[in-house]
Amino acid sequence: MPSCSNKAPLRAALCLLALIALLTLPRPVSAQESGLRLKTVVIDAGHGGHDPGAVSKQSKLSEKQINLDLAQRLGARIQQEYPDVKVIYTRKTDKFVELAERGNIANRNHADLFISIHVNSAKSTAASGTETFVMGTDKSESNMAVCKRENSVILLEEDYSTTYEGFDPDNPESYIIFNLMQNAHFEQSIAFASLVQQQFISQGPIKKSRGVRQAPLMVLWRTTMPSVLVEVGFLSNSSDRTTLNNADNRQKIADDIFNAFASFKQTYDTDGSFSFDPAVLGGDEETEAAEEKAAAPAAAIVGPHYEIQILASSKKLKNGSPELKGVLEYRVRFINGFYKYSVGNYPTKEEAARRLPGIQKKFPGAFVVKVD
Ligand SMILES: [Zn+2]
Repeated sequence: MPSCSNKAPLRAALCLLALIALLTLPRPVSAQESGLRLKTVVIDAGHGGHDPGAVSKQSKLSEKQINLDLAQRLGARIQQEYPDVKVIYTRKTDKFVELAERGNIANRNHADLFISIHVNSAKSTAASGTETFVMGTDKSESNMAVCKRENSVILLEEDYSTTYEGFDPDNPESYIIFNLMQNAHFEQSIAFASLVQQQFISQGPIKKSRGVRQAPLMVLWRTTMPSVLVEVGFLSNSSDRTTLNNADNRQKIADDIFNAFASFKQTYDTDGSFSFDPAVLGGDEETEAAEEKAAAPAAAIVGPHYEIQILASSKKLKNGSPELKGVLEYRVRFINGFYKYSVGNYPTKEEAARRLPGIQKKFPGAFVVKVD
C-alpha cells in the first residue's frame, strides 16, 4: 500500500495539496487563442528502396508502392483544395529513408500534422480491415505484432544502435522505454486518428475497422506535432489486397484521409478544442485472436518497493482517459475513497526520486510513494 495517506497530519495535508494540483490542471490553450493554424503537413509513405515493407506473393504490388501512391494522391488533393497548406513528403520516389529521419523531417519543417501511410500484413490471412495508430503503449498482442514489424525497419539501417539508443525491435523490454514518453499532442493525434477511421467506416472501399489504437511506433516517437500511422488494409488478406490493387479504390482511400484532414483542419484553425471518446481506443477482438502471437512486456512487482503516484481520482478511469495522458502501463489502488494511479517499480526511495523529475514533466503533481 502506498504510505501517502497514513500517519502525520502534515503528510495528509501535503497529499491533499498534491491531489488538488492534480485535479486542477490548466485547460489546454486553443489554436485560436494561441494563433495557431494548420499550415504544414508531412505525408510519410512508409518503407521504400531496399525495404519493400509487406510483400504479397499473389500480386506484384508491394507495400512501399501502395504507400507512395496513396501519399501522392493525398498530397495532391490537399494541394488542390488548400493551396496555402505546405505539403512535405518524406519521400517522393522509391528510396530508403530511416525511421528517425522521417520524424526529423516533420520536426525541422515545424509541421502541424504528420501522417504515415502503411499497409498491414499478418500471418493469418483472415485478418483484414483498417486501423490508425497513435503513439502510446498498449499491451495488446496484435498491436505489438504491428509494432515489431513496422519498427524492425531500423534493422535495415546502418548503425541503428546509436540512432535509437540501443532499441531492439524484437525485445519486448525495449518497449518499456516508451512507457512514460512525452506526447503533448496525444489528444489531437487521437482526434485525427478517429476522423480517419470514421471516414473509412462510412465511405471507404474497406469498411471493416479495427479502430484507433496505441502502439510504441518508432516513426511517431519523437515527432513534435499530432501524428498518426494509418494501416489502410491487409496485403495478406485476399479481399483487402484486391481492393488495394485498384487505382480507383486507392483514390477513395486517399480521399477518405483527405476528408479527415479537412475536418481536423477546420477544428484546428477555429477553436482547436478536440475531444475524443476513450471508447474509440481498442479494436476488434475477433481478428486480434487470429493475429500472430507476440510477447508483451510485463513487470513483476514483489515485496516492498517505491512507485511514483501520477494521479488520484474519485472515479475509476478507463484506459485512454485524457487524465492518463497516454500512459497505459500503471497500477491503480483504491485507497480512502480515491483511485490512485502509480507507475514504476523502484527498489529504493533514491532510485524513485531520480526518476521523479522526468515523470513530473508530464504529471507536475507526481510524487514518490512507498508500497508494502
Ligand atoms: Zn509498413
